Amino acid sequence: MNQPYPRLPGFKYHRPASTREAVEFLEKHANQSRPYSGGTDCFVQIRDRKYLPEYLVDLKGVSQFHRLDFSKDEGLLIGAAVSMNAVIQDTYALTHYPVLVSSAKEVGGYQLRTRATVVGNLCNASPSGDTIGPCLVYNAEALITGPGGDRVVALKNFFEGPGKTCLEPAEIVTAVRLPVPTKGAQGVYKSLGRNKMGDLAIAAVTVLGYPEADTPSGYAFKITLSAVAPKVIFAEEAQALLSEREINRANIEEAAKLCAQASKPIDDIRSSAEYRMEMIRVLSRQGLVETCEKLGITR
Ligand SMILES: Cc1cc2nc3c(=O)[nH]c(=O)nc-3n(C[C@H](O)[C@H](O)[C@H](O)COP(=O)(O)OP(=O)(O)OC[C@H]3O[C@@H](n4cnc5c(N)ncnc54)[C@H](O)[C@@H]3O)c2cc1C
Repeated sequence: MNQPYPRLPGFKYHRPASTREAVEFLEKHANQSRPYSGGTDCFVQIRDRKYLPEYLVDLKGVSQFHRLDFSKDEGLLIGAAVSMNAVIQDTYALTHYPVLVSSAKEVGGYQLRTRATVVGNLCNASPSGDTIGPCLVYNAEALITGPGGDRVVALKNFFEGPGKTCLEPAEIVTAVRLPVPTKGAQGVYKSLGRNKMGDLAIAAVTVLGYPEADTPSGYAFKITLSAVAPKVIFAEEAQALLSEREINRANIEEAAKLCAQASKPIDDIRSSAEYRMEMIRVLSRQGLVETCEKLGITR
């Protein structure tokens, strides 16, 4: 590939030892500094001159950001510097959040995943970010700290568009928290790239289903669609259909069509919009069938 910018431009490196020091530095050097963790998006974007910060603020020096904890009350807390591989190898993550683990395994190759973080994947806010859909269906929250103090934002309100989040200047995400999933929840992450070697998804679907006494079908489903809109979206009409009607093959097929209709994809170098839409239908159907099998729904 012809690389127009083969080298990184110069920058100054800062490694704070505490959250407070990080925030103060980012505030002092507003518009000239950028926080990063794994750097696997950040350095590519700097190389491509998408932004040119004077200072790069390495968050890995903050010990609190390496926390990866699970509790039955709070759920899973993934600190800002926790790598994809750490999440993949975590027994609690695998037991309680298998759909997140399966999506983390889709990110790049093994070496990349030793650096790339879940929080970096969220903050990069790419509509094809692999761990975004699973974090959304598990009702994740972003824990944010900045000059104005701490705040917690439901992840469904965190994304504003491609590469855009609700973060204010000098704010950082310290961790993402996933509450304990509803009892009996089962799900899958289905993604399609141009190859099997860790390409970014050209379309992806996350499905999470669980028994729900209050719906006519006896179940509730959460379905997200990736890489087919400016941000990862919920397929709300398909979710509603699967709550209201009996879960059977015909209604799953109908729900998969609603997922395709909810997509608003674009043509780009990786896929045509038409192909993305068709793949959303196929991946949604596969994801729903597999989830229903796991839930023991046999109709
Ligand atoms: C070869 C290659 C293959 C890849 N394959 C995939 C793939 O298959 N799927 C996929 O989803 N992604 C892929 N990526 C993209 C990237 O690896 C992931 O998005 C990764 O999870 C980013 O994490 P990071 O810690 O490296 O982010 P960083 O590069 O450190 O940061 C990403 C962005 O978030 C901001 N940021 C980081 N941490 C914080 C924080 N705590 N608070 C506020 N802002 C923050 C940074 O300023 C930057 O804008 C690939 C990248 C490469 C280079």
